[in-house]
Amino acid sequence: MASKLGQQEATEIQVDMTIDTQWTRVLEYLRSDFDENTFKSWIKPLALVNIDENRAVMAAPTRFMRNWLMSNFSGRIKSAWCQINPEVRDIDIIVLSGFKNIDEETSEQAPESKAENKIKDNQKTADTISVIGENDFGALLDPRFTFDSFVVGKSNELAYAAARRVAENKDVNFNPLFLHGGVGLGKTHLMHAIAWANRERFPERKVVYLSAEQFMYQFVSSIRYKDTMSFKRKFRNVDLLMIDDLQFIANKNSTQEEFFHTFNALIDHHRQVVLSADRSPSNLDGVEERIRSRLGWGLVADIHPTDYELRLGILQQKANGVPEVEIQREVLEFLARRISSNVRELEGAFNRMVAHSTLIGRPITLEMTQEVLQDLLRANDRRVTVDEIQRQVADYFNIKLADLLSARRARQVARPRQVAMYLCKHLTSKSLPSIGRKFGGRDHTTVMHAVKRIDELRQTDSVLEEDILHLERMFST
Ligand code: ADP
Ligand code: MG
Repeated sequence: MASKLGQQEATEIQVDMTIDTQWTRVLEYLRSDFDENTFKSWIKPLALVNIDENRAVMAAPTRFMRNWLMSNFSGRIKSAWCQINPEVRDIDIIVLSGFKNIDEETSEQAPESKAENKIKDNQKTADTISVIGENDFGALLDPRFTFDSFVVGKSNELAYAAARRVAENKDVNFNPLFLHGGVGLGKTHLMHAIAWANRERFPERKVVYLSAEQFMYQFVSSIRYKDTMSFKRKFRNVDLLMIDDLQFIANKNSTQEEFFHTFNALIDHHRQVVLSADRSPSNLDGVEERIRSRLGWGLVADIHPTDYELRLGILQQKANGVPEVEIQREVLEFLARRISSNVRELEGAFNRMVAHSTLIGRPITLEMTQEVLQDLLRANDRRVTVDEIQRQVADYFNIKLADLLSARRARQVARPRQVAMYLCKHLTSKSLPSIGRKFGGRDHTTVMHAVKRIDELRQTDSVLEEDILHLERMFST
């Protein structure tokens, strides 16, 4: 509290305090102002960058943390600063992604800073986040990221099995476990799941999860505070160390070096290490060759892009989580088919639909989905065109394209035509009238009828159902 330091003392100190000393004082002040957990989780991870004009600039390890601090604690942090150094009038918190090139950092906005993430960040409130175990230097764990909530499919089964093995066994089977795969495919989810499961099974084990960026930040600040010994000690003293997004240490030479020492020390002492990156060890450009080769010594598990079934499974699970919202099955199929980039985006789309439906109080229909998600769908458009569908369907059913587009009503062309219309409705964002026009100038009611008819037939005609699944797959990869 302010009174603890006293106004007089504060003014005295201020005269000849270095900014590092001021920062230490600010931290002391804040430590007494917050309860211990809040201080540990939110304030302690901050680093001082500098005092610029009358503004104290600090760095937080993640964007999420920065936003949260600015909207919840900026007033208290500012008043701490004003107590210690009355010349400080304002504060700012930046996201640190390279201590040495902080200026570049602010312009280098993370690629996934999309609206969805903002929504997601906003949804995470303080009570949904907790700090793992007793350790005070790991990152926050998302309580939603557990094994139970992870949907397993062909693309991620190896990574999932390996993660479970690590979580459920004290003995080290493969060291390190290296998970790699593109953005939004579940690497972080699996690592958090390992931490949760391990914590439940072996509460006595010291488990630490953090991003490579946070690792670097802690390393740099240990140098700054001339405390590298305790940095080394704490990192070498864990049973399970997980470092996420390792690609971040590329070209950061001293961090890389320190990481390698930590890594070797842990492996030598049979402590489990789990790493993730957006690419395989051998493709980690900017990381020294000897480190890269060592990273591949354990088990390297690749998470592949999702397939249609997995996406549908994930959506179904999410739908089960909101039983109060009525969602037509075809909506889930449509989303699984149309949004293939990554799971994060898929979840974002789903959440948007749920929010929309809750707001207007109506069940989620295909029509509504296409309307609400217009922009997202366009971005995800795999450019399946009406022409392409017509060509492939004619090909598949072995009829002439001209017949498919003609007015002939013979069953062997009429049914494929309906299938083609049905697929156009589901796989493109074209309206019914414009699909009709593409089929020899037919009326939109004809298209509507075709879509309905095929929908019905899919339930009863298993041969047709097979045909459609096959065609859908052709277009979805
Ligand atoms: P990465 O770390 O690989 O970029 P994340 O682990 O952050 O990806 O996953 C992005 C989002 O997708 C998270 O909300 C996560 O829960 C979800 N997700 C990814 N894969 C799955 C899956 N197989 N089952 C359920 N949710 C998943
Ligand atoms: Mg991640």
